[in-house]
Amino acid sequence: MLFLSQTQSEFRQRMRELVAREIAPIAQEIEAQSAFPQAAYEAFAREKLFCLAMPKEYGGRGADATTLALMVETIATASPSAALLVFPSNAVLRTIAITGSREQKKRLFGELKNGDKPLAFCLTEPDYGSDAASIQTKAEPAEGGYALTGSKVFITLGPHARYYLTFARTGPGPKAGGISAFLVDRQAPGLSFGHMEKKMGLHGSITSQMFLDKVFVPVEMRLWGEGEGWRVLADVANPMRVWGAAAMALGTAQGVLQACLRHAAARRLFSQQAVAFALAEMEMQTEACRSLIYRVCGLVDEHAASARQIESMVSMAKCFASDTAMKVADLASTVLGTEMARAEHPVAQLFKVAKGIQIFDGSNQIQRLIIARNLANPEKEKY
Ligand SMILES: Cc1cc2nc3c(=O)[nH]c(=O)nc-3n(C[C@H](O)[C@H](O)[C@H](O)COP(=O)(O)OP(=O)(O)OC[C@H]3O[C@@H](n4cnc5c(N)ncnc54)[C@H](O)[C@@H]3O)c2cc1C
Repeated sequence: MLFLSQTQSEFRQRMRELVAREIAPIAQEIEAQSAFPQAAYEAFAREKLFCLAMPKEYGGRGADATTLALMVETIATASPSAALLVFPSNAVLRTIAITGSREQKKRLFGELKNGDKPLAFCLTEPDYGSDAASIQTKAEPAEGGYALTGSKVFITLGPHARYYLTFARTGPGPKAGGISAFLVDRQAPGLSFGHMEKKMGLHGSITSQMFLDKVFVPVEMRLWGEGEGWRVLADVANPMRVWGAAAMALGTAQGVLQACLRHAAARRLFSQQAVAFALAEMEMQTEACRSLIYRVCGLVDEHAASARQIESMVSMAKCFASDTAMKVADLASTVLGTEMARAEHPVAQLFKVAKGIQIFDGSNQIQRLIIARNLANPEKEKY
């Protein structure tokens, strides 16, 4: 039982209805096919989910972290790949809302307020994933802005976004100090995309290489100052993994549990103690995960903890939720038996999704490093 405001409860109900009506019936197809999920995109665009996080004063819904988590969890319960349509888009929107100047917000939100334009987040490079402070994509001075050159990998949404929040090196500053954040226009000459990654799971989420060959970005499309890209990433973008990756993992665990419950009911397996205990364990783990995620969302929404405390809590939520999804998907074999060995079985797909979430948006090893680093440097304040 979550303590939601009436607006949040109503939103969750609307999301449940939308997902039951338009996503669940095609979820298996989305997860199995390596193709852009056009029908899911159209359903979400109609509901304006691509501008949920846009502030109300600019025509968006001004959704808080709790509302965004409800959206991502509900969609991921049916189709984690479909959740990856709206999660990066809202992460970029929230970043613009926090870091953008009035002019930038007026112009960008004016264009995006129809709620049908996806946005992508571009940090990872061929040789730099966890060590993101060492990225090599360059942003060199050009008249009126910058020329960006380099390559990114594993970019969710690939060529399907309108703008790309791209991190590149502007200055000689060491590691994080020389990084700046830019919004790259999909139409900019010199921007291209490579092949779509053939992933073990999340087939309905497009993931591509991205190439920048002297892509011109006007100075007005830089977020915050030169050399402040790391702050955009660490202080603004990272907290979003609680309503993004963590909520997606929660939805995945819930989807596995629901499939197992249907199977156990159909095969009258509840009387088998091993199966019943496995189901009880799955429910217990999933519910614990839900409690943590929505508590952290509450802290983010209420600004009820320091930046460092939020950082630790967000890392705990991401790590715990994706480990839970993996554990729950593993336990599912106790309930499903050989059914789960079928490649096309939904839970076989979700098993691979859970593994993917442990890796992306900062691997779980990196989340543990963050938690440990903050434990070693405790603050006095309690939350
Ligand atoms: C499905 C999917 C979607 C993605 N979408 C995007 C996207 O939209 N945009 C984007 O920018 N990126 C995206 N990524 C990339 C993702 O964020 C990176 O894969 C992730 O950050 C890990 O980087 P890496 O794969 O290069 O691993 P590496 O950094 O090469 O690490 C390899 C292993 O070593 C461990 N490791 C590395 N350094 C340390 C350390 N200091 N201490 C302990 N362990 C360490 C890691 O945990 C990992 O297990 C996506 C990835 C996936 C799988």
